[in-house]
Amino acid sequence: MPPSLLLVDDDPTLIQLMGRLLGDLGRIRFATSGEAALRQAHAERPDLILLDAEMPGMNGFDTCVALKAAPDLSEVPVIFVTSHTDLDHEMLGFSVGAADFIHKPVSEHILRARVTTHLRLKQMSDELRRLANTDALTELPNRRAFDAALAREWARSLRETQPLCCLMVDIDHFKDYNDRYGHPAGDVCLNRVAQALRGALLRPTDMVARYGGEEFAVLLPNTTRDGGCLVAERLLQAVLELHLPHEGGVADGIVSVSIGVASSDESTEQQGNAAVGEPDSADLMRRADRALYLAKHQGRGMARTIEPPPGAVSPQSGEGLRANLDSAERYS
Ligand code: GH3
Ligand code: MG
Ligand code: MG
Ligand code: MG
Repeated sequence: MPPSLLLVDDDPTLIQLMGRLLGDLGRIRFATSGEAALRQAHAERPDLILLDAEMPGMNGFDTCVALKAAPDLSEVPVIFVTSHTDLDHEMLGFSVGAADFIHKPVSEHILRARVTTHLRLKQMSDELRRLANTDALTELPNRRAFDAALAREWARSLRETQPLCCLMVDIDHFKDYNDRYGHPAGDVCLNRVAQALRGALLRPTDMVARYGGEEFAVLLPNTTRDGGCLVAERLLQAVLELHLPHEGGVADGIVSVSIGVASSDESTEQQGNAAVGEPDSADLMRRADRALYLAKHQGRGMARTIEPPPGAVSPQSGEGLRANLDSAERYS
């Protein structure tokens, strides 16, 4: 996709001129005020903003401050376009987060050179950010990305008083898989499981990350514990349906996973040793981890919560996959 440029100036003639000069470098969008620029940028995040410093109403400096304060826009580079050439103006611009300056009257060569440079830098920093947040083997979000999403979603769940559900997913007897079939085959298996988990999540806001080795963490905003159990059931099935042979596995010789489910809607008693004070996101993860431990201990290939509600039915496929207790020794 070509990069997108947002041109902001209260002078429509100048916008038209710059649009013509830059048209082949990306998709061009316009705004003739600071307020309109913010609305545009929020609606579709641009890759670069050219911002007139002097505009009636919200001037370029105020607009830049607002852009840098918005979490989803703070990384978008801003080039000021200004008729001022004094140092104070430039210093002010840099102090509010400008990436560069272009002086009016605009020279075609300088404009194109600066825009090309900043688009290239933006593309490189986007790629670095993507790599820093992506697991190389599975292309899923990595632990760092998961932790950031957890903090964000936890804050949102408190703000909107909505439940937040977390699942910890762990491949069963995966050390044995590596020992039997070799590490490269283990990598292929991990990748297949990762894609199956990703494919089984239906809401765009749901997220699965590679949390570590052969463990995945799933974050389900606005989801209760019961809702999380249904999703867990779907994930268990999705992995079984891959039919990846595993002679040492618990599920009729195919690869399976165990899942721990926890949600912020569980009552305080059910949260067990949530201990003193308000539960936090670390506590949610701890409970999902303890639930995973239960699933392992009770035979693997199943989903568990730390304390099923009275009369609750366990996820069905787990029932068919009870392993002998030897395999659960590590968890006893
Ligand atoms: P359990 O059912 O109790 O979870 O047993 P397990 O063998 O899956 O658990 P354990 O924690 O003992 O072993 C995890 C294994 O996962 C050990 C490690 O070699 C393997 N593993 C972790 N990361 C990778 C990876 O990136 N590639 C491969 N091939 N194996 C990995
Ligand atoms: Mg102006
Ligand atoms: Mg495992
Ligand atoms: Mg593990």
